[in-house]
Amino acid sequence: MNINKTNPATLKITDMRFADIDGAPKRCTLVKLFTNQGLVGYGEVRDASSRTYAAMLKSRILGENPCNVEKIFRRIKQFGGDSRQAGGVCAVEVACWDLCGKAWGLPVWQLLGGRWRDRVRCYCDTDSEGGGRDMGAALKARMAAGFTFLKMDLGVELLMDVKGALVAPLGYLAYMKKMKHVVKTPHGSIDPRAMRGEAYDLFNTSHGFTGLHITEKGLDILEKYTADVRAEIGWEVPLAIDHLGHIPYEDCVALLRRLEKYHLSWAEDPLPWRNVEQYRQLHAATTTPLGTGEDVYLKESFRPLLESRALAVVHPDVLTAGGCLETKKVGDMAEECGVQMNLHMAESPVACLAAVHVAAATRNFMALELHSVDVPWWGDLVEPALVCKNGFIEVPVTPGLGIGRLNERLVKKHACADFPPPWNSTKEWNREWANDRRWS
Ligand SMILES: [Mg+2]
Repeated sequence: MNINKTNPATLKITDMRFADIDGAPKRCTLVKLFTNQGLVGYGEVRDASSRTYAAMLKSRILGENPCNVEKIFRRIKQFGGDSRQAGGVCAVEVACWDLCGKAWGLPVWQLLGGRWRDRVRCYCDTDSEGGGRDMGAALKARMAAGFTFLKMDLGVELLMDVKGALVAPLGYLAYMKKMKHVVKTPHGSIDPRAMRGEAYDLFNTSHGFTGLHITEKGLDILEKYTADVRAEIGWEVPLAIDHLGHIPYEDCVALLRRLEKYHLSWAEDPLPWRNVEQYRQLHAATTTPLGTGEDVYLKESFRPLLESRALAVVHPDVLTAGGCLETKKVGDMAEECGVQMNLHMAESPVACLAAVHVAAATRNFMALELHSVDVPWWGDLVEPALVCKNGFIEVPVTPGLGIGRLNERLVKKHACADFPPPWNSTKEWNREWANDRRWS
C-alpha cells in the first residue's frame, strides 16, 4: 500500500474480512477493512466475542468514507450492546480510525486531539498457584521486569477447596468445581461449552442470586493472602484486585472493609456494573476504592456510575466502550468527575495499539492492562512488533494505529479451527439489511 497516493476525500470501504485466532490469550477476531485505494484498516472484535457482530455491519458501511468515523459510528452504534455484544461496532470504529490516520498521514492519538504522554504505563495479569507468598513472588517478578503497577485476582476461587470458607446451596460448589475443568482450555482461552448447555446458567447467575457467601474463615484467608502479598512486594507499589467472585453486596462490604488496611488501588467489578445504587452504597461502606467498566458500552452507560460518585476508577475496554473516540469521551467524562481511567485489554496487539492511542490522548489515564506478556509470539502478530519494555509501551508516531502489516504467517499458524480460514470471502453479508430507523 502506498499512503502517499491516497486521496482521503474519495476513500471508500469496499470489503470487510476476518481472521479468528486463538491463544493470545483468548480467541479474538481480527478485522480488515479494505478500500478502493488499496489502503487496509485493522480492527478487532472484543476477546471471546463473535465475528457475526461485525459481519452484520458490513452492508451498512460499504461505500462509506472511513474518515467520517463519527458518522459511521452513529449509524452502527445501535447494533452494539453490553460487553462482547459491542465487539462489532468497536472493531469497525477502530479500523476506520486506522484508515483515517493512514489516509491523512497522522497517528490516531493526533486525530483524537494530541497526546499527554509518549509512553503508556502497563500492568499485566498475573496467575499464581498456592498462597499469598507465591502470588507476591510472581508479582515481584513483574516488578523486576519493570512493571510499576500490579493487579491480582482475589476472591472465591482461592477458597473453593477450603472446608468452611464458603457458604452455598449444598452441591453448588462441587458443581462449580466440576464445570471449571470443562470450560478452561490449556492456553487460558474460553471453551465454548462455557456458554452452551447446562454451564450457561452457572456462569450467568448474577452476584445477588448465587447464594454464595464468604465465612469469617474465608475472610481471614483472603486477608492473610493479601497481607502475605504485601509482605513480598512491599507497600509502595500500587496493587489492584479483580475477580472477587459472584458474591452479594453484603459480602463485598465485609471483604473490602477487611482489605482497607492494604491500600488497594481498586477492587474491580465487585458488583454488576448496572447496580449503580449498590455501588454507591458500597462506596459509602468502605474506603477500598472501587472500579468497573470493562463491560460497559457507550459513555451514556458510564454516566450514572460516574454521577453516583461511587467510583475511583473507570476501566473501559476500547473494544466494548465504543471504540477509540467514545473511550476518550468516557475518560474525559470521568476526569470531570475526578475519576481516574485505566484500560481493560485482553486481545491482540491490534486492540492493544488502539488502547495505546486512547491512553496517549486521555489526560486522566493511569495504566493499561496486558493479558499476554507470557505469550512469546503475541507482540509479533503486528509489524513492527509491539513491545512492552520495562512496563511501558512507546506511543507510535506513524500513521493510523502504527501497524505496517499483520504477520500473516502467525495469523495462519494460530487460526482457530472452529472458523473459516483467515480472510475468507464474506460476500454473504454484502446484502444484509433491515429498516434501521429507530423512530417513526
Ligand atoms: Mg477485570
